[in-house]
Amino acid sequence: SQRVVIVGAGIVGVNLADELVSRGWKNITVVEQGPLNMPGGSTSHAPGLVFQTNPSKTMTRLAKYTVEKLLSIKKDGQGCFNQLGGLEVATTPERLEELKRRHGYATSWGIEARLISGEECTQMYPLLNKETVLGGLHIPTDGLALAARATQLLIERTREAGVRYLGNTPVTDIEKSNGRVTGVMTSNGSVPADIVVSCAGFWGVEIGAMVGLQVPLLPLAHQYAKTTALPGLRNREVNSRINGMNATLPILRHQDQDLYYREHGDQIGIGFYGHRPMPVVAGSLGLTPEHVDEKNMPSRLEFTSRDFETAWNESQKLLPALKETHIADGFNGIFSFTPDGGPIIGRAPNLEGFYVAEAVWVTHSAGIAQAVAQILTTGRSEIDVGECDISRFEEIQLSREYVSETSQQNFVEIYDIIHPLAPKISPRNLRISPFNVRQRELGAYFLEVGGWERPFWYEANAELLKYLPAKWQPVERDAWSAQHYSPISAAEAWKTRNAVAMYDMTAFHRFEVSGPGALHLLQRLSTSDLKKEPGSITYTLLLDDAAGIRGDIFVSRIEDEVFQIGANSATEFHYLSREARFQRQQSPSQWVQVREITGSTCSIGLWGPRARDVIAGVSTDDFSNKGLPYFGVKKVHVAGIPVLAFRKSYVGELGWELQTSAELGLRLWDAIAQAGKLHGIIAAGRAALNSLRLEKGYRTYGADMGTEHDPLEAGVVSAVDLKKKDDFVGKAGLSRRPKTPSRRLRCLAINDGLSMVLGKEPVFYKGKAAGYITTAAFGFTVGRPIAYAWLPSSVNLGETVEAEYFGRRVAATVVAEPLYDPQNSRLLD
Ligand code: FAD
Repeated sequence: SQRVVIVGAGIVGVNLADELVSRGWKNITVVEQGPLNMPGGSTSHAPGLVFQTNPSKTMTRLAKYTVEKLLSIKKDGQGCFNQLGGLEVATTPERLEELKRRHGYATSWGIEARLISGEECTQMYPLLNKETVLGGLHIPTDGLALAARATQLLIERTREAGVRYLGNTPVTDIEKSNGRVTGVMTSNGSVPADIVVSCAGFWGVEIGAMVGLQVPLLPLAHQYAKTTALPGLRNREVNSRINGMNATLPILRHQDQDLYYREHGDQIGIGFYGHRPMPVVAGSLGLTPEHVDEKNMPSRLEFTSRDFETAWNESQKLLPALKETHIADGFNGIFSFTPDGGPIIGRAPNLEGFYVAEAVWVTHSAGIAQAVAQILTTGRSEIDVGECDISRFEEIQLSREYVSETSQQNFVEIYDIIHPLAPKISPRNLRISPFNVRQRELGAYFLEVGGWERPFWYEANAELLKYLPAKWQPVERDAWSAQHYSPISAAEAWKTRNAVAMYDMTAFHRFEVSGPGALHLLQRLSTSDLKKEPGSITYTLLLDDAAGIRGDIFVSRIEDEVFQIGANSATEFHYLSREARFQRQQSPSQWVQVREITGSTCSIGLWGPRARDVIAGVSTDDFSNKGLPYFGVKKVHVAGIPVLAFRKSYVGELGWELQTSAELGLRLWDAIAQAGKLHGIIAAGRAALNSLRLEKGYRTYGADMGTEHDPLEAGVVSAVDLKKKDDFVGKAGLSRRPKTPSRRLRCLAINDGLSMVLGKEPVFYKGKAAGYITTAAFGFTVGRPIAYAWLPSSVNLGETVEAEYFGRRVAATVVAEPLYDPQNSRLLD
C-alpha cells in the first residue's frame, strides 16, 4: 500500500491511522510534535461532550459514527465513552421553539430524541432551577467522550498493527516534486511519503502554508472552568465508575446563555462561548515542550476570569447549587473555527497526495477519520462530505481577513437561533454584480451566499400587489417562515409567468474549459454525450465511481474547443481543474485548461412569455425558435453589446440567460430594462426564482441530492445518456446500482395550501418517520407550499404523508412532478 504520513496525533490523526490500518493499509507513520502520551493539542484537554444533533445530516451522521466507534474502544473493562445522554434546555420561549426544530433534525437524521417538559428536565437533572427551565430536548445516545484516553488506546492498538509513531518530532516542511508530495521534513530528518494528511488541528494553517495551501481556519480560545466540589454530588454510587468518568447526569447545554456543563466527579465543568472572541496565531505559541502536562500545554492559555463573569452568574441561576462552590480552576483552551462552521477535509487542490482533516470536533472525529480513510482507499466517502470539502471555499473566502472575521462571528453565534436564510452580518458587499447600483435603486432586499449579494425581491414591485389576481394573492405566513420573506415575491412570480422579468444570474458559477482536450475531459467526467455541434447546451451530471452524484452542470459548447460550464459551487471548478491537470500530464496532445470566469462576467435571466418582444426591441439577431432553439447558445449583440445568449431557463418560461463581460453589465441591464418597459418588465429576485424553479422540479445539488444518491432515485436519470459509447466516471458504478431504488426524491404539495416548511424537516408515513424534506417553497403558480423529500419508494403517488414543522404535523400529498408545465410547452414555444 501507499506510504502515508499523518501529521498530528490528536483524536483525528490517530483515528485516521486506525481507519487506514483496519482497511489493510500498512505503511503508516504518525508524526507528532508533542510527547505521544499527551501531545498538547486541543484533544489533550477537551472535555469531550458529544451532542450529535445538528442541522446538517452529514455532521449528525459523522457524530453518530463517532459515538458508535468510541463505545467499541475498551481496555481492561474501561471504555472511552460514557453514554449519559444529552440534555439541551430552554429558558426562553424562542429556545423552546428552537428545540422543536432541533428535535426535527434528530428525527430526520435517525437520532432518537424526545422533547420533555421543564419538570421532566429537573427530574432528569435535579440541579436545574425549576423556575427558569421551560423544557428540554433529551437525546439518550449522546454522552461524554474520553478523548485523551481514546487517543491513547488507539495509539496502542494501531502500533500493534504496525503504525509507526514519531513523538516529539515537529514537521518542519513538506517535501514535494512535480506537483506531488514526496514526504515530510522533521526535526529528525525526512520521512518519505506518497500521501501526507495534515491532522494538525489548529496548527493547520502553518502546515498548509508549507505547501502554499490556505487553510481557512482560525484558532480561538474558549473558556472552560471547573467548580470546587459540589456537596450534593459527593459520595455518590456512580454506576459509570467503570469508565473512570464518575458521572451520572446527562451532558447539559444552556444555549440561551452560551453555556454547557458536565460532571467531573463531584465538580462541575463549565464551558462558555459568550465571551469576546480571542483569536490566536498558532505559530506564535512556540515549540511544544518536551514534557506536557495538564497545566502546561500549548493549547492551554491562562484563564481570564473577567471574561467568565457572566458565565458564572448565569450558571448559578441555572444550577443554584453552584452558589455553594467557587471556580477551582479554569483555562482558555484553543481550537479551530471556520468561516461556515464546518470542518475542513479532503485533498488539497494544489498538490497531489496532500490531504487535510482539520477543524474537527471530538464529536465528529472518528466519522471524519472514516470519511478520509474511505476517500484515500476507495476514492469516495459513504457519508456525503461535500460540505466539509476544503475546495468548497471561494478564493475571497480564503483570505486571512475573511477567515478571521467570519470565524469570529461563528464563535459568537455558535448557539444562536439562526434562520436558514440569514445572511452574514459582515463582511457584506464583498462581491456585487455590475447591476448592484440599479438593484439598490429598486429597493432590493439582499441576502448573501458565498460572499455574493443576491437580491431576493425588490421593494419597487410592492405596488404590483394591488393588481395581483386573487389566485396569486400570497397567504399569511408563520413568524419563522416570514423571516427574510416578502409577499412581493408573489407579484414577481406572477409577472414572470404572465409578462416578463429580469433576474440577476451573476452569482452562479461559470467557468470555461478550453483546448484540444476539452471535449475529451468533459466526455470522460460527465454522463452525457457532448459530441454535439457548437451552439448546444447540455444538462449533465458528474458522478463518482459508485455513481453517486457529485455535481450537476450545464455544459455549453461555444466553439469546437471552447466550452462553458454553469455550476453550483467552487468544488466543481477544483474537480475539473485537477482532472485537466492529470490529462495534460498523461497526454499532452489532449491539452486542456479550466478558467474561472464568474467574476469577470455577469448574466441576466430574461424570462417570461413576452421575453421575445423585449429582446426584439434591443437586438437585430434572430431569437426565434429556429434562430436559437431551446438549449442552444450563440453570440449575439444586445444594444450593441457583445452577449452570449443561452436559451435555457431556471423558471420554466421562454427566455435566455444573457451573459456579457462585467464592465458592460450595467449597460446591458439598462438596455433591457428600457426595452422592457413597453412590455411591463420588472426586476425579480431569488425568492420568486426559487418558487418557480421548484414548480418545474429543477433540483439543487447539495440540498436535494449528493454523493449518497444515484441519478435514478434523485429523478435526474434523463441527464444520463445510457447509449453514450465513451466511458465516463460512474458508468460502471451505474450498472451496479439497483434498477428499482428503495427510496426516491418526491414532490409534496402541502394539503392546507398554507403551512410552510423550509427544509430538513422529518416526514412521517403512516405515523412513522420515513424521510426528510430537502428544499421547499411556496409555489405561487400552483397556489400552495411545495417541497421535495426523500421517501421510501413504497410511498406511492397520491398518498398522504406528514412533515413535522416546529413539532406540528403538516399533511402533504405525494404528487406527480413537475407541477408546472410538464410538457415544457412554455419553454419550447
Ligand atoms: P489536536 O488534538 O490539536 O491535534 C493536532 C496535533 O497536531 C497536536 O497534537 C499537535 O501537537 C500536532 N501538530 C501540530 N503541528 C505539528 C507539526 N508541525 N508537527 C507535528 N505535529 C504537529 N469538542 C467536542 O466535540 N466536544 C467538546 O465538548 C469540546 N470541548 C472543547 C473545549 C475546549 C476548552 C476546547 C479548547 C476544545 C473543545 N472541543 C470540543 C474541540 C476539540 O477539542 C477539538 O476540536 C479536537 O480535539 C481537535 O482534534 P485534532 O486531532 O484535530 O487536533
